Amino acid sequence: MGARTLRGMASLVAVTGAWLSRCPAEQMARQVVMAGTPYEAPYYVKIGDEGWGPKVCVIGGLHGNETAGYVAAGKLANWQITRGVLIVMPEAHQAAIRRHERAYPGNMNAMFPGDPKGDAMQQLAYAIWRVIDYHRPSLLLTLHESIGYHKRLPSNYGYTLCHDFAVLNTFMDLCLLRANADIPDPLHQFGVFVEPHPVCPTYCAWSKLRIPATSIETCMEDDLALRVQYQLMMCMAFFDEAGLGYEQTDLPRLSTASQAPRTALEVWSPHLLALEQGRTPPASYGILRVGANVAGAKVYVDGYYKGCTPASTAVATSDAGRRVKVTVKLEGYVPYTGEADVAPEGYPTVIAELTPVLPAAPSTAATEPGPD
Ligand SMILES: [Zn+2]
Repeated sequence: MGARTLRGMASLVAVTGAWLSRCPAEQMARQVVMAGTPYEAPYYVKIGDEGWGPKVCVIGGLHGNETAGYVAAGKLANWQITRGVLIVMPEAHQAAIRRHERAYPGNMNAMFPGDPKGDAMQQLAYAIWRVIDYHRPSLLLTLHESIGYHKRLPSNYGYTLCHDFAVLNTFMDLCLLRANADIPDPLHQFGVFVEPHPVCPTYCAWSKLRIPATSIETCMEDDLALRVQYQLMMCMAFFDEAGLGYEQTDLPRLSTASQAPRTALEVWSPHLLALEQGRTPPASYGILRVGANVAGAKVYVDGYYKGCTPASTAVATSDAGRRVKVTVKLEGYVPYTGEADVAPEGYPTVIAELTPVLPAAPSTAATEPGPD
C-alpha cells in the first residue's frame, strides 16, 4: 500500500463523521427467509439514522451446537445502529439449533451459494445467499465455535478469524489487534487462520462478490458467557475498524474504540482485489452514496450492481475525478437514471426520487430481495 494511498484513505475516514444524512431514517426491518417452513429464519436490517456509513452483515447459527455464535448474534440484533447498516441473521439453521447438533441433516456451512431447486438445506443456503447478494455488504462475518484452541492444536479453530484468502489478512490483522488489546490471556487472543472452504459463505462472498469475509471462532471448552463476550468483542473490533456506529449495554467498549479506522470500509474490496490480481491499487477513491425515497431499491453504478439503498460504494478516481452513471430501480417504480461526479476523497451523494408506476398498493417489494 503506497503512502499516497494511505493518506488518501485516511482523510476519507476523517470526513465521515461530519457528513449528515439525507437518507430516509429507518431503524429496523424484520425479514425472514424460508417463511412458513421448519427452516424459517428471521433477519434484521438495521439502518443508523446518524448518517451514511458502512454496511456489515453478521450471520450466526450456521452450526446448531455452536451456541456462543448464535447467542452473540442475537444480542447484536438488539444493538442500536447509529451510523451505517447492520444486517444480522442470528440463527441461520434453525433445524440444527433446535436439536443442538452441529450439522443436521447436513453441514449448513458447506452448501453455499445454495440451490433454489435443491433440498430444504440447499434452498436455505440459497435464500441466505440472496440476502447477501441483494444487500452487498462491505463486510461479512459468520459466528462459529470450535472444539479446541487453535493455539494448542493448529487444526482447531478456537480463537481465530478463520477465512479463505490470505490477501484479506491485511484487514483481518487490523481488526484482531483491536480486540486482542483487551484480552489478557494469550490462549484467548485471536489469530488469523487461512483455510479455504470453497462452499462456505465467506469463501463465496469474496470469490463471487468481492466482499471481505471471515468466520469468528471461539472455543467450546470455555464457559458460554466468556465465549459470547469474546464473540462480541471481536464483532466490536470489526465494527470499530469498519466505522459502523452502534450503542449497546452488553459489555464495555473496547479500549481501542477511539482509534480511527485505517480507511473507509468500502475501499478494502477494490484495494485487496487489486493486490490479489497483481495490479497496483488505485491511488485514490471517492465514496459514492446512493439513497432513495424508498428503502431497498437496487443501485447500479456504471451498470454494476452495488446493493440496495442505502448503498455506499468506493469509486476509483483519477486526480481529475470521475463521472459515473447511477441507476436506481425498484419494481413498481419508474427507474431513476442520473450522473455523479466523484472527486478523489469525495463523498458525493445521490438521492433518487422514485415515483410509482401505478397507484400504490400493499406490497412487500420494497424490502424483499428480488432477482437482478
Ligand atoms: Zn461452525
